[in-house]
Amino acid sequence: MSQEDYSGFMVFAEQHDGVIHPVTFELLGKARELAEKKGSKVYAALLGYNVGSLSSELIYYGADRVYVVDSEKLKVFDVMHYKDAFLKVIEKAKPEAILMGATNTGRTLAPRISAALKTGLTADCTDLFIDEKGNFIQVRPAFSGNIFAHIGTKTKPAMATVRYRTFKAIEKDTSRKGEVEKVEYSGPDDTGYKVLEKIPREKVNISDAEVIVAVGKGLKKKEDLKIIEDLAKLLNATVGASRPLVDDDWISRDHQVGFSGNIVKPKIYIAIGISGSPQHTVGMKDSGIVISINKDPNAPIAEYSDYFIVGDLYEVVPKLIEEIKKK
Ligand code: FAD
Repeated sequence: MSQEDYSGFMVFAEQHDGVIHPVTFELLGKARELAEKKGSKVYAALLGYNVGSLSSELIYYGADRVYVVDSEKLKVFDVMHYKDAFLKVIEKAKPEAILMGATNTGRTLAPRISAALKTGLTADCTDLFIDEKGNFIQVRPAFSGNIFAHIGTKTKPAMATVRYRTFKAIEKDTSRKGEVEKVEYSGPDDTGYKVLEKIPREKVNISDAEVIVAVGKGLKKKEDLKIIEDLAKLLNATVGASRPLVDDDWISRDHQVGFSGNIVKPKIYIAIGISGSPQHTVGMKDSGIVISINKDPNAPIAEYSDYFIVGDLYEVVPKLIEEIKKK
């Protein structure tokens, strides 16, 4: 089979316990745009156990054909089963490119698929497009976000992961029609991996937050996070953080905003004691209203701010809390 015979854009439909991760819909939207440019099709790969009923949802969001692998072996995320089952789908569909969410699942599975197919994988893409020669191009930050590299992959299928909230899903259209094709997977009984138990933990979905109160190294010690949490609670906001606070173990990575954290687009973003490095602002620059509190009037975050309060956070934040409580 020649490389020319690969066509169409395949989205890995990530689902957990029968709920599709919204990054899937965003990727389907982008895949539609790419496929229309090439005059080709959009495929979705749906893997799991008792998941067949989710196919129509994928069609409503842009898939022309859904490949479903339904097997008890795919009930929990055993990456070896998922890899082998997904490879079967790819072998059947022969897509020009595969798009996956840069989620924990996508980041675990994608490199294994790319290694098995001996093809290129571009992680954390910020854009995808078809160039004037019809090549599929992947854009991603390089050199700590200082340049955007445009990457073309010579081998097919090309592979790309994209973070949640990078693209927009197209409007759900329940009148859309598509095909569903079942793919059999038997797989070994023992892959050598054991999923022992799911450990429940506090899950912060900062990417969906409408109001974020984010804090950075302006904070002197971990205990002082309390005043930020108090302000966030009053505003019904989610707490965000710059990376140094995560690296120092003051707060979990779920809260990190930026290049190596989460991309956020809240209506209101309050940046407290955050300087505004390119690695931070890349994650929050599309926020609605940005309010900053900083001692330094020349902090780079000023450029992204609609309102800039010059002052010591230890004075400004308690005053803000006091005023809000009066209302
Ligand atoms: P600082 O740059 O130290 O700024 C602290 C700010 O607080 C200053 O502006 C200061 O004026 C102000 N301040 C100090 N005291 C007070 C006070 N009492 N009251 C009010 N203001 C005060 N960073 C991220 O955030 N997210 C990422 O995803 C990320 N990814 C990265 C990936 C790579 C590969 C690399 C190399 C770096 C990454 N970084 C990331 C780190 C980034 O380069 C910066 O180091 C980081 O964003 C700085 O965090 P900060 O603004 O909290 O701290």
